[in-house]
Amino acid sequence: MVKFYNSLGKEKQEFKPIADNQVKMYVCGPTVYDYAHLGNLRTYIFEDILRRVLELSGYKITEVMNITDVGHLTSDEDTGEDKIEKGAARENQSVWEIAEKYTKAFKEDLKELNIETPEIFSKATDHIEDQIEFIKKIEENGFVYKTSDGIYFDTSKLKDYGKLANLNVEGQLTGTRIEENKEKKNPADFALWKFSPTDHQRQMEWESPWGKGFPGWHIECSAMSTKYLGEQFDIHTGGVDHLTVHHPNEIAQSEAANGKIPANYWLHGEFLLEEGGKMAKSKGSFLRLSTLVEKGFEPLAYRYLALTAHYRSKLNFTWAGIEGAQNTLKSIRKLKDIETKLTTEQKTEYIQKIKDALNDDLDTPKALAILHQAQDFFLWQEFEPVFALDLEKQAKIPVEIEQKAKERDEARKAGDYAKADELRKEIEAAGFNLEDNSSGFVISKK
Ligand code: AMP
Ligand code: ZN
Repeated sequence: MVKFYNSLGKEKQEFKPIADNQVKMYVCGPTVYDYAHLGNLRTYIFEDILRRVLELSGYKITEVMNITDVGHLTSDEDTGEDKIEKGAARENQSVWEIAEKYTKAFKEDLKELNIETPEIFSKATDHIEDQIEFIKKIEENGFVYKTSDGIYFDTSKLKDYGKLANLNVEGQLTGTRIEENKEKKNPADFALWKFSPTDHQRQMEWESPWGKGFPGWHIECSAMSTKYLGEQFDIHTGGVDHLTVHHPNEIAQSEAANGKIPANYWLHGEFLLEEGGKMAKSKGSFLRLSTLVEKGFEPLAYRYLALTAHYRSKLNFTWAGIEGAQNTLKSIRKLKDIETKLTTEQKTEYIQKIKDALNDDLDTPKALAILHQAQDFFLWQEFEPVFALDLEKQAKIPVEIEQKAKERDEARKAGDYAKADELRKEIEAAGFNLEDNSSGFVISKK
């Protein structure tokens, strides 16, 4: 039995999908105006574990992930610039080129982290008509009003707007505004459709019943989740920042359009912090997966690191942390050479304990602790479909190559660079990559 903490019910609940054995889930995807940072990727690792734990219980998953390529403004609300247009200006490229470049980079990151590909990727700009139709329904039901810059959702028309995060709508949301829009009727109201500005031409704009413009950020998720998963589906996920604005707004849109809360379970991943502060793309320079690779760490060491913290706990990124994760990963792979000492009964008992931990709101730290306690490669392999750390592939590095790498390391430390270079060439010619890091070296298959 899988149990989750559900933001909607405020407590751990047994998971019951709408249809037997089928799980429909919607994952709020990236805004593709820059590379993903390690924090964003932590959220997608959590969502991947969620999928894989459900698969372990025999569920068949249909996952939709959106790609936000229009309408997400810099304030995360309804003021400021469109992030994609801003990214395009920064790199002197078209918005379409920017969106394509960073969508591709994002998908590569997912692959490197062994994150299972969603059954459906849906781009906001491919679904403008669906979004217009959704807004029309909200309008027909009397939830919208017009201002000089767009069509807005009137949150006061819903009696319990903000229930997801227990929001104190009057007070809490006004404080977060960067630039207050004076024409809004209520502080929490949000744009469904924004008119194109009059002082400059946007690259992305469309005709609509309300005038030329572009969709507000939240409507894409309502329109696309309904299109691919139906008016009600099982699970909706995202980072914890979505708990207070984006997800309450998605719920409001669906309730206004069809009277239903779109998903039964809402799961939010906590933030990755960097030196105590939030990791954010808008900070300019940020840590990416490739930053780790450049420093000699494997992407999967980051996956491992992310799994050492519960998804609902904050995780502080440190270099010592990633180094520790890389070393642990190496030591797990080495267990392959040690024969199992566990009896069949012990194996069964351990397997059950690990499953129980994973099924209990995805308690990966507990599951990992049990695996480390057992020290048995058989068990790690058994849970490879969930943890996906490429244990087999990496463990197959031949002894001669390991030996050569050690000799090269010694030669390098002794200052014999000619010998070290020669050995590196031999290792690479045999089809392996060798990367140095502060704790030694990492060998991987090319
Ligand atoms: P964005 O590309 O900004 O739309 O964000 C993509 C996903 O990453 C969303 O689910 C965010 O909630 C999540 N996210 C943003 N910052 C962090 C962070 N520091 N740690 C974990 N997740 C984050
Ligand atoms: Zn969303």
